[in-house]
Amino acid sequence: MSIYVKSNKMKRLTIQFFIIFSFVAHIYAQSDTIQKTQKIINEVVAKSYPELKSKNIEVQIFKSESDYFQSRFSFGKMLTLQKMRYIIFVNPKVFEKNAPESGIRSIIAHELAHVLYYSQRNRVELIGLARLSSKDFNQKFERGADLEAIARGYGEGLKDYRNWLYQNIPAKNLEEKKRNYFSPEEIDLMLEILQKKPETIEKWRKNVPRNKAEITP
Ligand SMILES: [Zn+2]
Repeated sequence: MSIYVKSNKMKRLTIQFFIIFSFVAHIYAQSDTIQKTQKIINEVVAKSYPELKSKNIEVQIFKSESDYFQSRFSFGKMLTLQKMRYIIFVNPKVFEKNAPESGIRSIIAHELAHVLYYSQRNRVELIGLARLSSKDFNQKFERGADLEAIARGYGEGLKDYRNWLYQNIPAKNLEEKKRNYFSPEEIDLMLEILQKKPETIEKWRKNVPRNKAEITP
């Protein structure tokens, strides 16, 4: 009888131990993901986004099967006189599934292009932006961020990221990714054109190419 009670108690303690252990392991893994991402953000800002040096950029975790990074802005609690906050969300799976280092760096350069875009707009414009969400707008918004990353030297890494991404999302999301973002093939063409005629980037900034046919010098 007493042995039975004891072993039952042991069992309960073991279960409790594992619950606490996996909770701690989970928190540890999350803070590791946040730290890794924050480090890369700091490096990319220092090297390529001088405009963002004084900005408040936070990292938070999110979960998804088809997205690995997102960025948003936040007005904070008070609408007036408070510094804008920018949040880059990271899906820990990007590290678990071994995305290439150059790819992660480059997709962060893409996210920082969104942060730059937000930081150049006033609050009224940002409220308007939050309401905009059409297929066409998303395509222009995402390809525009790709273009900024390419302009700042992340074209090759962005190719690495897309090649990895296409292998690490459900098949049903592939078409949307290819519509909204530049594919490795399109980036190759752009890099080739930019090598011969760097000023083409200004033309593309005004009119972001929506497909391969629109990528012309
Ligand atoms: Zn984006």
